[in-house]
Amino acid sequence: MEILRGISVAPGVAIGEAVVLEAEEYRIPFRTVVEGDVPAELECLDRAFSKSIEELKEQSAWLNTHLGRDAANVFEWHIGVLGDEQLRSGIESQIRERRASAAYAASTVMRNYQRRFMQMTDPLLVERIRDVQDIERRLLRCILGEGREDLRGLTQPVILVAHDLTPTQTAQLSETKVVGVVLDAGAATSHTAILLRSWGRPGVIGLNDVSTRVSGGDLLIIDGTNQLVVVNPSESTLREYRGRREAHVRLTGELDEMRGLPAVTRDGERVQLVSNIEFPYEVKVGASKGADGVGLYRTEFLYLRPEGAPSEEEQYEAYREAILGADGNSVTIRTFDLGADKYTQQRSYEQERNPMLGLRSIRYSLQNLDLFKVQLRAILRASVLGDVRLMFPLIVSLMEFRQAKMTLHDAMEDLEEAGAAWNRDLKVGIMLETPAAVVQVKEFCREVDFVSIGTNDLIQYLLAVDRSNERVSQYYTASNPALLRALRDVLRACGQANVDCSLCGEMAGQPLYTIFLLGIGLRCFSMAPANIPEVKKLIRLVSTTQAQRVARRALSFETERQVSNYLRDETRKLLPEDPI
Ligand code: PEP
Ligand code: MG
Repeated sequence: MEILRGISVAPGVAIGEAVVLEAEEYRIPFRTVVEGDVPAELECLDRAFSKSIEELKEQSAWLNTHLGRDAANVFEWHIGVLGDEQLRSGIESQIRERRASAAYAASTVMRNYQRRFMQMTDPLLVERIRDVQDIERRLLRCILGEGREDLRGLTQPVILVAHDLTPTQTAQLSETKVVGVVLDAGAATSHTAILLRSWGRPGVIGLNDVSTRVSGGDLLIIDGTNQLVVVNPSESTLREYRGRREAHVRLTGELDEMRGLPAVTRDGERVQLVSNIEFPYEVKVGASKGADGVGLYRTEFLYLRPEGAPSEEEQYEAYREAILGADGNSVTIRTFDLGADKYTQQRSYEQERNPMLGLRSIRYSLQNLDLFKVQLRAILRASVLGDVRLMFPLIVSLMEFRQAKMTLHDAMEDLEEAGAAWNRDLKVGIMLETPAAVVQVKEFCREVDFVSIGTNDLIQYLLAVDRSNERVSQYYTASNPALLRALRDVLRACGQANVDCSLCGEMAGQPLYTIFLLGIGLRCFSMAPANIPEVKKLIRLVSTTQAQRVARRALSFETERQVSNYLRDETRKLLPEDPI
């Protein structure tokens, strides 16, 4: 038995035999055609282009209906590449001048196209190589007319193992028997990761060499909740995971019945469960899981695209979609949190020695005021469309918050001059995710309308552990007593100052911490929509006095192991069959 750790795309458990997808390459030998056949080859090429574009349009329309516009845009980009006149004439001139076959000409020109992307330093553009390979395969299939084996041919439930998946392969998954996916490659912002997240079944990516460690037919377990893949599990592990899978399926089913029920404790305390989203269409996913709105809209994903920063109008449209999708519920829009592990194309050339401590988040915004103001104007304009709140990321000092608010006032003045409307009661808050902000929480409470605790970064900075470095991942834990005390202090200070406080780090969606967080007074949990079911179930099983008792005891421990063991035991008492 072997356990591999990676990046999870969705929670839950999948168990199945592995199907290892070989990197299927078309090998096209150089073949010339006689002069008289050149028109036929050109015609064949023309048909292949039309067929490819037709297929892509169908796929894009399907994705637009089922997964939203961002997913569909992946294939719109493919259509754009096929519409590139230079690419097309490059292939045609190979046929005319070298008398190459259409397949050979298409393959060579597409390979050159790929090489251009390989030489780029921007990781986001390098990701596009997969798209270009995908386009090449499609074009070749249309030229060669071969009915290639695709994933739809699978006849039984399997776990798909691959080095990487092209967007086309990923988009096909919902029509196949694949129950989970594990990949060597994986970047949080790649198109494949975006599509996998929308697909929603367990998946772990970024495993480096899983496709060479695993052979077809090996038994695999994907533990999406804990970001693990177990290869050839022992009997007892398999038994345990079968139980966890059933529990997860049952919980998900139960939520369908519970969706309309409020998240309320046994003694009647109402708790708000809201979702974290990266794209506007996810608001609907959150609502389908019972979310009461959006606690964190990570708008930087709008900027992480090859075209560069979105215009004010494009942003306004995205915010509008999210706000209207929330149907009267509140939407907290965080201004772009760029830098650290989220670089725009333009900035990827400016490497930083220590990006987690570098020019990121609000610091970057305050050094790029024009870019910042464009976003602030778009958010302000959208603020009249519903219940909108505005939030600044990674605030360290009061000066930063004041500067950010001054920039917001500048944006308001721009709108005033233009005669545009905005909500004059707009609530403005901060992400509380640095130790400095924890220490000064009382001072912040005098100036902010609300606080949202970002434990993903707070753990990183409080414990001095890079949140994305797998070599130190064992030190990265929310059970650290220092973190628990920091959270208690923040909630206490906010309570005394009557300032709204939510928590939107991953911790909010981990059932292990639900009782503790309730016990220290948290009443608004913001998480990935898929995590809402279990958290809601736990909340409905516990009373506030019980939770306070558990929190007090958890706070009395000196080590993270004691904390984790204790919280696991307490959670199991309420959910005996649950995979905690
Ligand atoms: C956090 O830091 O906890 C958070 C929610 O923000 P992000 O994960 O986007 O940094
Ligand atoms: Mg953060």
